[in-house]
Amino acid sequence: MTFADLGLSDELLKAVSESGYTEPTPIQASAIPSVLMMRDIVAVAQTGTGKTAAFVLPMIDILGEGRSRARMPRSLILEPTRELAAQVAENFEKYGKYHKLSMALLIGGVSMGDQQKALEKGVDVLIATPGRLMDLFGRGKILLTGCNLLVIDEADRMLDMGFIPDIEEICTKLPKQRQTLLFSATMPPPIKKLADKFLSNPKTIEV
Ligand code: AMP
Repeated sequence: MTFADLGLSDELLKAVSESGYTEPTPIQASAIPSVLMMRDIVAVAQTGTGKTAAFVLPMIDILGEGRSRARMPRSLILEPTRELAAQVAENFEKYGKYHKLSMALLIGGVSMGDQQKALEKGVDVLIATPGRLMDLFGRGKILLTGCNLLVIDEADRMLDMGFIPDIEEICTKLPKQRQTLLFSATMPPPIKKLADKFLSNPKTIEV
């Protein structure tokens, strides 16, 4: 199996090969074609398996050249910590260098004013921690009605950190017709319940 077998664009294949990767990891091989076919996914995978590229690569092709003119994000990635959020942003920069996607980080420790300015322009990808996102909601500063691609990453860590009620509330603010990808190292019952409630006929991947 090569990256070229997965259905990714030539620009993306170029960025991937420039990253030095020669073949997809098992989670990439099984997730990428399904994500490109717009399916929901529940992936049980540890950090280190290449799970970040498993969602970042197909997202870049789905979002294409960046079409956001509305002042709202087109996709949302939820991360439990600002460090993980920053890592995902770096991945978008590395693999997305031949695309013109706009991105914003919404995390603690960065001034709210700067984050709001980035958001006001409208972004293709919003990467956020649940606490900071809920904060902005509380002030009526953000709309997620144009966001039809959602990634819930490290779901079991979100559970340990008490973020599940926030995530449930965030899910209700997105369009019902959307694609949702959930990644978790383990599948405790509350995460299964979350997936049952907010994903639609997901493909389950275990690596
Ligand atoms: P992750 O599980 O997303 O945290 O990725 C773990 C590490 O694997 C990261 O340092 C990636 O740069 C690297 N990586 C991801 N995909 C591949 C691949 N197909 N081949 C080699 N390394 C990879």
